[in-house]
Amino acid sequence: MGAGAREPRPPVRMCVRCEVTTETPVVVGVVHQNSGPGFVVYACRTCAAHYPPEPDVLSVPSPTR
Ligand SMILES: [Zn+2]
Repeated sequence: MGAGAREPRPPVRMCVRCEVTTETPVVVGVVHQNSGPGFVVYACRTCAAHYPPEPDVLSVPSPTR
């Protein structure tokens, strides 16, 4: 069959937990920094299941309003 190249392969990301590159990265949190843009933390599907729904530990606590 023809090899469809309609969907580009997503870039591999390194799991923040097991440090293994995965082709199916799952966003488990976003680290916000005071200066500069934050970065997204990825985990593999296996490790993502162990992450809490709200990864507060990965983000810097924002000042209370
Ligand atoms: Zn992992």
